[in-house]
This record gives sequence, structure tokens and C-alpha cells, in this order.
Amino acid sequence: MDENRQAQLKQLPGVDRILEFGADEGHFDHIPKSVLIPAIRSAIDALRAQIIESDVPPDSSCFSRITLVAEVKKQAGQTMALKLRRTVNATGVVVHTNLGRSLLSPVVMGNLAAISSRYSNLEFDLKAGRRGSRYSAVEGILCELSGAQAAMIVNNNAAATLLCLDTLATGQEVIVSRGELVEIGGSYRIPDVMAKSGAILKEVGTTNRTHPRDYENAIGERTGLLLKVHTSNYSIVGFTAAVSLPDLVSIGRRHGLPVMEDLGSGTLVDFSKYGLIKEPTVQESLAAGVDVVTFSGDKLLGGPQAGIILGGRRHIDRIKANSLTRALRIDKMTLAALEATLQLYRDEPQAMQQIPTLRMLTLPLPVIQGRAAELKSRLERIPGARLKVELLDISSKAGGGSLPMLDLPSRCLGVTVDGTSVNAVERWMRSSNPPIIGRIENDQFIVDPRTLQEEELDIIEKAFADMLAVGTHGR
Ligand SMILES: *Cc1c(COP(=O)(O)O)cnc(C)c1O
Repeated sequence: MDENRQAQLKQLPGVDRILEFGADEGHFDHIPKSVLIPAIRSAIDALRAQIIESDVPPDSSCFSRITLVAEVKKQAGQTMALKLRRTVNATGVVVHTNLGRSLLSPVVMGNLAAISSRYSNLEFDLKAGRRGSRYSAVEGILCELSGAQAAMIVNNNAAATLLCLDTLATGQEVIVSRGELVEIGGSYRIPDVMAKSGAILKEVGTTNRTHPRDYENAIGERTGLLLKVHTSNYSIVGFTAAVSLPDLVSIGRRHGLPVMEDLGSGTLVDFSKYGLIKEPTVQESLAAGVDVVTFSGDKLLGGPQAGIILGGRRHIDRIKANSLTRALRIDKMTLAALEATLQLYRDEPQAMQQIPTLRMLTLPLPVIQGRAAELKSRLERIPGARLKVELLDISSKAGGGSLPMLDLPSRCLGVTVDGTSVNAVERWMRSSNPPIIGRIENDQFIVDPRTLQEEELDIIEKAFADMLAVGTHGR
């Protein structure tokens, strides 16, 4: 190592010295000690590495008080920044599992804040003046909206199916069509959940065709349950046959066996009324006579993460009595958000407007086109003339394993930046504050306005403006 570098290493200040620098003017007053000391150490380490490794040793300004204090503050800021961050969803996937699935509406947020920042009657019966059930807040409205006799809620739909299988079929065979042995993202697989519950999977039929006689032939002494799974994230097309829920219910009745349906995305609204593909509704499953139906709270329902179980009183009572419920129970924030979301469903037009998931899924194309045109002209006004924006008629997706065959017509922006690769554009957007998540298609950065919220056009415009102001960012 040359003399110059050795001299610089000797010049490196120690932790105490930097602490003094900061203390003089109160620079570090708002940084907890547990964060500050490691931040100082990593600032020193970074400087040492620069001296030893870089081709050109750092100039003396790097050793100045101001630079060192700024570096420590930057490091501490990174440590203390919240890791779970608001993110802009420019993918057009409405129920995006990786980006938080459903957004809560302001009305729902109001109730969530009010309940969770104060004491509540979470498990207190105000009429009787004694301990009550936490599920009573939503059981009534769930039954009112769906036509069910009874309801139970747990943490998510995976927990709901586990709990139902564990209650209704432990040690017994559960008959499922081979066409319905689904895997949902995040390692949820019907056969695995079945194994965990202690139920024994009995597959019938084939991947593409299952007939009533397949179920009939499989029913025996050890059969405990007939299960139907809504194949919500794929569809089998061509030479296919499946047993409808009403037919499965009549087979169950004939043999004295309960029938359960895992509806997955579970909607209370008939989407075909809004020009979308028909998705089976919760009401239809119950009207068909299913004994138990389960679905997610944060997919097409558009509420908080939850697993909703509806069905006949006798089965739901058994499910409630299962000791697993204690391990799967929802907290008061979920309950507050779920109750407020369900209230909106009493007036369907209101639900369609106020529940963000429903609003985005049924957003009229002209509204999306208007947003796309506005964003395009805003981006084209950014000085530098390096941005090229094209309007593309490509479709959005419902997502979250919902409405798999559905393409929602949309109008997207395809952005390219002269002198910058599309991968670098994507990376810049993703590391913006707040991060903007889009997708790459045909060497363009695609922004789908369907899933953009208020003021997010501003955020995207600013991110592009900053990018062009800073210059080229790799290829
Ligand atoms: C999404 C889904 C699940 C899992 O629901 P979570 O609420 O994510 O736990 C289970 N079954 C089906 C059919 C699904 O679509």
C-alpha cells in the first residue's frame, strides 16, 4: 500500500471522535444509541474500504466533520426507515398478492382506527354485562348478506379450510376431484392442507373429467366429507366434465355426508352483471345446499385478510368448538375492518364504488383511457425529450387467483427512455420513494392506470422527472 493511503488510514477518526462531532451541534440527538453506534461503525468501515480498495484514494473532504456526520445520518436513516412501505401498483393486477391484495376504503379505515386505538367490546356482551364472543360482531351481517345460518371467521382462507377439514373429517376420507387438487401461491396445496388436518385424501376422476359416479363409487365406510374446490387460479378447457355443486350436494344427501366448498376468491356480487365473466357467488353455493363454504376476506370481497366460513348451524357450532380456533383467531383490527366492509354490501351500488377492489375491477374503460392520456401528456412535458410514451391496448388482470379467465380491457402506457435500458428504468422506479412497481413487456416499461390511486400520477411523473434530471442509469 502506498504511503498516501497509509497516511489516510491513520487519519480515520474513531467512534468516539465522530460521536463528539455530532454531539457538538446536536446532530445525533434524535438517533437512538442502538442505531447510532452501528451507523458510525459502518460509516468508518465504508471510508476505510474506499481508502484501501478504490483506484483513486478519497480526497480529504471525505474526512471532514460535515461529510462524516452526513454519512452517519444517512446510515441511521436507512436503518430506521420502515421496511413495510406504501407502494404504487402500476401492474394493473387488482388483487396483487405480493402488493397487499385488497385496499381498504377510507370508511373502513376510519372504523379500524377508531376501534384499534381505544378499548372496545371485542369480547364483551354489552347487553348482558359479561364476556361475549368476538365473532358476534360480524356473524349476523354475514348471514344476512349470504343467506347462511351461521358464520365463523379465522385468519385467512387457508386457516378456514384447515379448521373445517380438521373438524369435519379428521381420520376420515375426503373425496375430491383430481381436477380440483389446486396449488395456490405461497405453498398452499389442497393435498398438504388435507394431510395437516388429519383427513385422508381420496382422489376421484381424472384431471379433465370427473363424473357423479366417480364420487358414488368412492363413497365407503370411511368417507367423512365431499369437498369441492373452486379452481380459481386456472381453468381446464376442452374435453371437460365436472360435477356441479347441486349434484354433489344431492350425492351427499343421499349418503348422509356433508359437502364442503372451498370457494377461494368468494364474492357476494355477481360480476356478470357488470360485464365481467361469471364467478360463482357465495349466495349461490349456499342456495345449492352446501353444508360449509369457505373463502378469503381480501380477494374479491375486498376486505381485510380473513377466512370466512359459512354454513349450517350444526356444522358451524362444531367448527367453533374446535380448539384450533384459538390458534387461528382474527384480531380486533381484522374484525373492525371486516365489519365495516360488510356494512357497505347492504347497498350494492355503494359497495361497487367504495370498495377499492370492486371499483378497480369494474372501472369503465373511458376512465382508464383518460388517466392514460393525462399521464402520457404529463410525461411528455418532462424536459430532455428522452422519454417515449406509447398508448397500448393491453389488458389488466384480476389477480389473487381470482377470475383466471378474465382479461379486463385496459389502456396502458409503454415507456422507453433514450439511452437507458428498460431494466434500468424498472429498477429506478422500484427504488423510488414510494416504490413504483410496473412490468416489462416488449422492451417497454408498462404502466397500467387501472390500479393507480389518487395522486399517484404525480408520483410517477416525479419519479420520471427525477430520473431524467439525474442522467443515465446504466444499461
Ligand atoms: C386463495 C385461495 C386459498 C387461500 O386463501 P388465503 O386467504 O390466501 O389463505 C385457498 N383456496 C383457494 C381455492 C384459493 O383461491
